[in-house]
Amino acid sequence: MNRRQFNLGFLGAAGATTFRSLRTIVTEPRAKATGSYLDQRSFNDPVATARGSETVRVNGARLNEHLAALAEFGKNPQGGVSRLAYSEADARGREYVIGLMRVAKLDVSIDPAGNLIGVRAGSDDKLKPILFGSHIDSVPEGGNYDGDVGSLGAIEVAQTLAEKNIVTQHPLEVVIFQNEEGGLIGSRAMDGELTERELDLVSRSGKTIREGIKFIGGDPTKLATVKRAKGSIAAYLELHVEQGGILEKERIDIGVVEGIVGINWWDVTIEGFANHAGTTPMNQRQDALLAAAKFIEAVNRVVNSIPGRQVGTVGRIQALPGAPNVIPGKVILSLELRDLDAAKIQMLYQKIRTEADQIAQASKVKFDFKEINVNIPAPTDPRIRSLIDQSAKDLGLTTRQMPSGAGHDAQDMARLAPVGMIFIPSIGGISHSPKEFSKPSDIENGANVLLQSLLKLDRAGQ
Ligand SMILES: [Zn+2]
Repeated sequence: MNRRQFNLGFLGAAGATTFRSLRTIVTEPRAKATGSYLDQRSFNDPVATARGSETVRVNGARLNEHLAALAEFGKNPQGGVSRLAYSEADARGREYVIGLMRVAKLDVSIDPAGNLIGVRAGSDDKLKPILFGSHIDSVPEGGNYDGDVGSLGAIEVAQTLAEKNIVTQHPLEVVIFQNEEGGLIGSRAMDGELTERELDLVSRSGKTIREGIKFIGGDPTKLATVKRAKGSIAAYLELHVEQGGILEKERIDIGVVEGIVGINWWDVTIEGFANHAGTTPMNQRQDALLAAAKFIEAVNRVVNSIPGRQVGTVGRIQALPGAPNVIPGKVILSLELRDLDAAKIQMLYQKIRTEADQIAQASKVKFDFKEINVNIPAPTDPRIRSLIDQSAKDLGLTTRQMPSGAGHDAQDMARLAPVGMIFIPSIGGISHSPKEFSKPSDIENGANVLLQSLLKLDRAGQ
């Protein structure tokens, strides 16, 4: 279909449903009170609904007030929140969010995994739903923006649609995923990836995941029903703070996320020979820590040797036996590589292995690499990327494409449906900290981009 056909399809559907939704207004005083000029106009003129939907905007002041109110649940002395999944603060924060979802006229339920789902009917219930949302749990001593902006932004979008009587063709679902920070638990349940064994792991709240799910109103015995089939969702959209400093530094309003990077993590053991630090001559040592130092330098050099935005980190190191008067005989360190392209990660890894072989020979030590965890990269959908980009530009905002270096629920949703992610600037690039901050105007911009991208996506059809 060309663009013109999309629009005509949308007009037909919107015209039919506007009438139906306006009739419900009569019996709902709240909706009537907020009914605008647009509502009255679209009642007589279905074309106006389609035109009007391009000028419709969220209520930025209200969204920022809601964010401030949510920040009270789990508030910490440093000015951020500690709202760990399954904690008392999490439960109370979720109650507050359920209230907001109801005011936004969403049909709210808690799925058996404990995710909050708010449904808004579309005009064509044969169409697959469009999902959008984020999470409200935080890390210990976290901030007030990571997850919260996307969650309350999604609810604000739903409330705006309700107030303006805009009925999409697709059914909509606002999803507030549970326990994102503790391993993307809610979204992985939707993927069907959450294992029985994992349910018994103890989360940072002190409860096992199984206990936590019960605590927030889910039912861990019915997790199978949460699983969505691949292809059963039209699309998933997520608004989020960047958690890095690129947008602020380049003075760009909106980041159009190209994908969530893959993360490969290895534990590397270097075996040398522990010996007396006083009596072993310098040319007879098998110093594992010295080899590790050369290795760390090599990782940095290899990752920097090619263009691109790949990153490589040695973030943890342990030297044994760990005494000032003993030559270290063994070192265990971590190696982590991230990129949007899994093949590039493998290529870098092979180069690093070659460097390790050379260091091993020169330093008379042995390297052993053990793969600990692999998160495959999750690219976003190119068509949704261009819808987001266009929506932002139509709002007069500047954009740039960028990868997400952090993990998000969207990476799990990418296994089920085409996904899109919208970033707004994080001041100072600070995140997972009480100092995390995004400007109210950027938050409002992000929610407007979410709203317009959703409407464009709905019109374009799936
Ligand atoms: Zn997050």
